[in-house]
This record gives sequence, structure tokens and C-alpha cells, in this order.
Amino acid sequence: MRRRSLFWRLYVYFLLVTVGALAATAWYAANSLRKFHQDQVTSDLVARARIIAGEIPLLSVQDPGAVDRLCKDVGRMTLSRITVILSDGRVVGDSNENPAVMENHRNRPEIAAALVGGTGQSIRYSDTLRRNLMYLAVPFRMTDGAVAGVVRASLPLAVIDQALATFYRHVVLGGLAVAALFAGIAIFLSRRITQPVAYMRQASEQFARGDLNARIPVPDTEELGMLARTMNQMALQLNERIRTMGLQHNEQKAVLANMSEGVLAVDLDQRILHINPAACRLFGLKPDEGRGRHILEVIRHIALQEFIGITLNSDGPVERDVVFREDADRFIQLHGAALRDDAGAIIGGLVVMNDITRLKRLESLRRDFVANVSHELKTPLTTLKGCVETLTDGAVANPDEARRFLGMMDRQVGRLEAMVDDLLVLSRLEHESDRGGAELTPGSVNDVLARVVQAFFDRAAKKGIQLVLDCPDSLTAPINAALLEQAVGNLVDNAIKYSSEETMITVSAARQESSAVVAAVSAASSDEDAVMIRVTDQGLGMEKKHLDRIFERFYRVDPARSRAQGGTGLGLAIVKHIALAHRGSVTVASTPGQGSTFTLRLPVT
Ligand code: ADP
Repeated sequence: MRRRSLFWRLYVYFLLVTVGALAATAWYAANSLRKFHQDQVTSDLVARARIIAGEIPLLSVQDPGAVDRLCKDVGRMTLSRITVILSDGRVVGDSNENPAVMENHRNRPEIAAALVGGTGQSIRYSDTLRRNLMYLAVPFRMTDGAVAGVVRASLPLAVIDQALATFYRHVVLGGLAVAALFAGIAIFLSRRITQPVAYMRQASEQFARGDLNARIPVPDTEELGMLARTMNQMALQLNERIRTMGLQHNEQKAVLANMSEGVLAVDLDQRILHINPAACRLFGLKPDEGRGRHILEVIRHIALQEFIGITLNSDGPVERDVVFREDADRFIQLHGAALRDDAGAIIGGLVVMNDITRLKRLESLRRDFVANVSHELKTPLTTLKGCVETLTDGAVANPDEARRFLGMMDRQVGRLEAMVDDLLVLSRLEHESDRGGAELTPGSVNDVLARVVQAFFDRAAKKGIQLVLDCPDSLTAPINAALLEQAVGNLVDNAIKYSSEETMITVSAARQESSAVVAAVSAASSDEDAVMIRVTDQGLGMEKKHLDRIFERFYRVDPARSRAQGGTGLGLAIVKHIALAHRGSVTVASTPGQGSTFTLRLPVT
């Protein structure tokens, strides 16, 4: 349906009502006037007829000519037609015609009415004059009171119509003028009503487009003013509510986006309602990739799918650990709960996923460590127990045997002591790293290295090994001198242990600028300035496959050799922890049969 604007509707209605009212008034006025005029004419004709009726008895009835003359005289003077008819219907006088040739008028309705004593009236077409006439007839009586005849006066209606035509013309012209005036007023009135509505329409369109800051000018009419105020109020509240909801939404989004736990919400059909970035990362999905899709299409983990099914069908929270088997196993702890609407009906499920792989790994490392420590302690303890038994069984009586066994016991106790010392050092380092790392103060690197070289000089010399220090005097770094001394000491100790006689061990240190570090071969390249401490030997070296693991606790390339050398298998693990306590790292480069270089990298800034 085609819609017309409110303005045009109002305008057309105003115009129709105005023109209709004018037309009705004009019609009513014209009818009243016509009636008034007819009444005037009627009473005029009655008066004329009565005057003539009064005259007739004075004339000789026997002289028809006298009556006819009277009719013709009066007719000429009054511009009306006068006819006199006797009681038998004969016409004896007529202002316009010769009565002798006129037919009997007894049956004319006005005549018949007058003959019985009343006033007869009729409007009719006159055959004689060939036009519509108004007839009025009154009786005239003889002296005895009997009706002797009728005087009839008549006037053509055209005369009345002519009189009214001028009036009609004036009414129509006046009406048109008034209608034109009202057309102008109707435009003004329609505009006054529709203008505020147009403003409201504009504003509500802006509201619909989302611009809730738009305001409607308040019109001065009460109803429209109230409507505009209410709409403005509504926009204000809506704006406020949307702003609050937006803030809440953003807060929720930020919380979900920054959670380290994966969050997955599904509906009852197991379609994904929400999946946060952590969950996407967990399943290798692009952000928002899974939203709206079925869980089976997106995540192909049977254990998770089963868990979602359980979550949707359980009343309370559920929990389960699952393993995702990929390149490496990932242990995920799942917490699930049903999502409910306000009425308490289940509308979906929420699953929170916690990657506990690191925890599991730590747990297993700890288990391995306890097993390793027990194993490492068991060997010297078994030896000690054997020595004690042998001595108890009689060897104590033999001084040479007793000395041999006591010597063995001394070595085993020394091994146990070394191991417990190393374990204590490791435990202290772990403890410190839990509390934020060791305390570092700027100190001379050269001093530390010089002390280490001095401490190991004799042991090296005993094997004919040349121990060389190459470090600028001025080299400083933020260090914990005691720990650094222990770390470099461990490296030099290993270098002596795993080098043949008559070789050379170099302990060197230098500052490496950040740009140079990037170009360096070191795996620990970084954009920070650093001090690089290197211990290079010309000893046994190691195969590549061992290099990644030698910093693990109790890892040895050749366990028998290590034990023979008094090694605990913890020396490099301690070096690694000390490097970490300095926010640095330790790396190794080695060639079997040619030697190894251990590099400690300590960041300076
Ligand atoms: P250990 O007490 O056995 O020396 P470490 O943790 O100090 O324990 O060293 C682990 C292993 O790494 C050693 O058993 C040894 O096989 C190897 N290793 C360490 N330093 C060197 C080196 N300079 N040359 C060759 N092998 C080394």
C-alpha cells in the first residue's frame, strides 16, 4: 500500500472538512433562502389574490368583460398572472389569455382546494405559458357566504430562480475565497502538527542507526512534548545500558582472552558458543575459528568430546585429567559445569582446560630425581656396608687389610659427602630461584677467575696440564662472586678430570656487545650486552648426542669413568643453576678427541 505523508493527509482532511463545511452551509443557506423567497412569493400571491377576490363581488357577475379587464390590469401592474374561475370551473378572466378559449379549470388542484373554502397552492408546468409556475388560489363568496368562484394568482418560478441565482453566485465566489484562505491556513496548521513529528522521525531513525546521542527538540504541545521527552529519556537510558553492557562485555572478553586456562562454552547441541584464545592455542585453531560450529568438526579429541557429554548431563561440576597425544604428550586437566538459564534449565556446558603438562613433567622429574639420588647413595652405602662386614668378620685383626678397607671406606664417605654437598648446593640454588634469584652485585670477573685458576693450579700441574687465564683486569659484571667461583670451579674441575696429561686449559672472559652477540654462534644469542666466560680444554670431548643432556642431574657420558674420577654427576647441573641465578645461560661446544668449550653467558644490563 502506498503511504502518504502525514502532512498531506492532514492537509487534505483539513481542506475537505473546510470545503465540506462551506458547501453544507451554502447549501443550507440557499435552501433556506429559496424557502424564504417562496414563502414571500406565496404570501405576496395570496395577498394579491385576496385583494382581487375582495373586488370581484363589487363587479357585475353578469359582465364577464369587467372581471377579465380587472385581471388584465392587475396582471400588468403586478407582473403576475391573474385568473378568475367560477365555481363550475369556467374561466371568466385571465390576465394573459382570452378566457373564452381556456378550458375548464375545475380540476386544477389549487382550484379544487380553494372551491372547498381553503387556500389552494400548486407548482406545476403551465401548458398555456409553457413554463413552471407557482399557483395560489383563494375563494370569493356571494353575500350569502357561499363560494362563488376562485381568484388565482401565479408567478413563473423562473423569477424566483433568477433572484436566487445572484445569491448563489455570491455564495460560490465567497466560498471559493474562504476555501483559498483556509487552504493557506491548513498548510500552516498541518506544518505545525507534522514538523515535530518529522523531527521525531529523524531522531528515531538516528536511534535505529545506533546514534543514541541524538536528541529530539521538545515541541510545545503537551502530548508531543511528553512523547519527545520520553523518547529522549529512553535513548539516554538505552545509551547508558549499552555502554555498561559494552564495558562488561569488554571486561569479560579481556578476562577470557588473557586467561592462561582454555575456556570452551557449548550449547545443548554441542555447538561452540565461545572459545577463548588459550583454548584455540591448545587445539591449534585460529582465533574464533570454531565459533558456531559443532565440537566434532573442530576438535577431534574423543576424551574431550566424552567429557562435554558428561558435563551436559551432570548436575554438579565434573573434573577429569586427559592426555592429548601429539608430538609430545600433553596433560590437560578438565573442569566442566552445566550452563543454566534464569529458570535453572540447562542450556549448555562450560569446560575450563588447564595445561598441567609442566606440572606432570616436574612431578616425574622429582620422582626420577628421588630414584636417582637413592640409586647414587646406594652404591657407596653398599660398599661401606661390605667393608664394615669384612672388618667385623676378622679383617680388623689384620692391620694391612684393616687399613685397605678403611681407605676404601674413606673414599666412599668422601663420595657421599661430595654428593650431599652438591645436593645441598642445588637445593639452596632452587630455593633462591624460587625467591627471585641470587643477589647480584657488580664485581670483578677477573678476580673470580684468578681465584679459580689459583685453586686448581696444583691439581692441573700434577697432570702436567697448563692452566691459562685470559681476562681483562677491568672486566666487571653483576655477579654473585661465591656462586660464580663455584660454577667456573666445576667447569675447570671437569676440564682437568676429562683431559689427558700435558694438555692446556684456557679460562677466558670478554665482554660481548649486543650486535656481536647476534652474530655469535652461541645458542643463547640475545640483544643484550653480556660477559662471556669460556673454559676450553683439549680433553676427551663428547659426541653431539650427549651435549643436550649433560646439564641434567646425574647424567654422565661415561658413568664408570666419572665415578672413578670422584664425580657426582651434579657438577654441570649446579653450573646451569648458577648461570640461571645470574639470568644467564651455559652452553657447550665439543668435538670427541679434541676437546670441549663451555661458555657461561652473564648478561650485563
Ligand atoms: P661428573 O661429576 O660426572 O663430572 P658433571 O655434571 O660435572 O658430572 O658432568 C656430567 C658429564 O659430562 C660427565 O660425567 C662427563 O661425562 C661430561 N663432561 C663434563 N665436562 C666434560 C669435559 N670438559 N670434557 C668431556 N666430558 C665432560
